[in-house]
This record gives sequence, C-alpha cells and structure tokens, in this order.
Amino acid sequence: MRADSESIEPGAADVLARGCSSPIKTATGAWVRCGSRIKSKCASCAELYRGDWAAIARSGVFDGPVEQFRFYLLTLTAPSFGRVHRVPRDGAEGPARCGCGATHTPRDAALRGVPLDSESYDYAGQVAWNRDAGVLWDRTRRRLRDRWDSLEYFIVREWQDRGVLHVHALVRVARFEAPAADALRQAARTATAVSRVDGTVVEWGAQAKCDAFRADGDGAKTIWYLSKALNYVLKDVASSADEAPLEVWRHQVALGDAARRMRCGRDCEPQNCSSLVHQRYGSRSQVVSASRRTSDRSGWSFVGLTRTLQRRLRREWWTRVGADAGADAPAIAPEPLEDLAARSRRELVARGWSAP
Ligand SMILES: [Zn+2]
Ligand SMILES: [Zn+2]
Ligand SMILES: [Zn+2]
Repeated sequence: MRADSESIEPGAADVLARGCSSPIKTATGAWVRCGSRIKSKCASCAELYRGDWAAIARSGVFDGPVEQFRFYLLTLTAPSFGRVHRVPRDGAEGPARCGCGATHTPRDAALRGVPLDSESYDYAGQVAWNRDAGVLWDRTRRRLRDRWDSLEYFIVREWQDRGVLHVHALVRVARFEAPAADALRQAARTATAVSRVDGTVVEWGAQAKCDAFRADGDGAKTIWYLSKALNYVLKDVASSADEAPLEVWRHQVALGDAARRMRCGRDCEPQNCSSLVHQRYGSRSQVVSASRRTSDRSGWSFVGLTRTLQRRLRREWWTRVGADAGADAPAIAPEPLEDLAARSRRELVARGWSAP
C-alpha cells in the first residue's frame, strides 16, 4: 500500500526510489517491493519479473555445453469449445475465411475470439479445461521424460483470444537420444490427464507445433520470440475488460460467470469459495515455470539460476552498493547474474559435468 506523501517512512522511500510504485510493509516492519507482475499495477516490478524469467530462459540455451543438446520450441493448444471468429492481427498473413462466412481483416478486431454462437458455446468446458491445464502439463512432461530422460523445459502459458490457455515450451534433449521434432510434438499432443475435480479426461487440442532450433543459430531469435510471449502474458487479462469491444466483453463476462460457478476443487462450494481461480477463467497455473535442478538432473538452467537466487542476489547487491549510492542509485540493479553464470560454468567444468 502506498504511504501518504507527507509520511513516507525511510524504508518505503528507499523502495520507491528503486522504482516500485507500491512498496509493501512486511510483518517484520521491513519495506519490500510489491512484486507485481502486472504492468498496469507496477511497471518496475513487472519489468523485473519479465527480465528475471527471460534470464532463466536464456541460461538453459546459452550457458552450457550446447553442442551436446538439441533444442525445440513446442506449442500446445486447448481443444475447441465451439467455433470462434478468426480475425487476423495487423501484419499477420492473409486471412482465411472465417466460419461465419466472412473474410475478416484486422479492422474486425471487435470480433476476435468471439464465439459464432454463444448459445451453444461450451463455457463450462473451457473454464474447466483452464483449471485442469496444469495437471495436463504435468502428465505431458512425465510422458516426455519417460521417452527422453534427459529432457528439460521452460514453459510460458499464454492466453488465446478466446480466453483459453495455450503453452509455449522451450525443450532441451541430449543429442544422443534427441527425437525428430515431429515425434516430440506427437508424444506431447497425445498425452492425456484425468481431472482431479470431476474425473473427466483432459486433452490438448489438435493444433500443435514443434520446431527444432539451434542454440548457435536461431536460438537468439527463439528466445526473443518467447520474451515477446512473456510480455503478452504479463498483461492484466482481467482488467482490460472495460476497454474491450462489446462482443469481446460479453464473451469475457460469460467466461467469468462460468468460472464463478465451477468447482475449483473436489470440496469447493463455488458460492462460498474465495479462490482466485474463480476470477481467472479457471486458471490456477503459474504463468511461467522451468524444470528444477535435482541431484540427478541439471534442471532447465544450466547454471542453476532460479527466481529465489535472483531475488537473493538483488537484495545483496542493494545492501552492498545501493545504500552508498543513495539517490543516484539506478532503479534496477545491474545484473550480478552474469558473474553467477560465469562462476557456475567454471564449477560445472571443474566437476567434469557433461550431458547425462
Ligand atoms: Zn512494485
Ligand atoms: Zn467471423
Ligand atoms: Zn473454489
């Protein structure tokens, strides 16, 4: 919560000076960043969040013995819950004919992702799928690892216009067992899960894509593409509702309604449940995640970079340097993470680490 301008405590002023617009006082009385990942709430914290994740994404592609691995960009979508208008974006390739009979142009944005027939559209099915998407990804990654044990991943969940999640995953597999892109796509797309809430089978949609890329070739481009997706998913889906065109708004209201009525867990009584899942079209998943380091796996980041580590390093940096610099301190700590990457690389080499 933002303090009154006359009565800003020194701790709060310090956090404000670093760029956070809404410092929070913790139970112990210390002031910390609000940590929002939504740009409209706090641009500075949202940028930190995006930058931190982008650094983790990069460290799984560039910070290791890349010649021993193959890399893929895998995209998985949700099934259909009824036909929607297909409206191209500015600069996108030529429009195919839409199910409504028209050939839309970007000027028809007011119809983008809106059902052709809202009466028959399966709103309940869609929010339930969003709810169960996390379990489905969990089954999917297990299945992939059953086949390719060395597989590590970094995933970003993105909202499609119709209000359903889809998944972009950076995937890394050791070269000696690396599959063709199509085999990976097929194995992922056909994975299924059983909903823990209502016992129904949860599946991916028919649309799936998988492209191999090289860390020393188009790797940078792929990471750039993913960072763009990161920007997009960090927009505040719910709060943009009042600027939405009427038809889009109606669709969002219907989805919101369905999400409030659905059960989020086996014991959920929707009318008495305060879980945020009911306000996010059913979604409970974290937007971004990466496979973790364990005793027998490197995890996605070759150098063991995690959000916890990034936060610790930033805190340490501020205590060491930020305090002396006073008002001249930059709003965002420069990356001490590069040092860390170099240090970890040396350790890995010293331990004779190589692909499993
Ligand atoms: Zn903030
Ligand atoms: Zn249409
Ligand atoms: Zn609930």
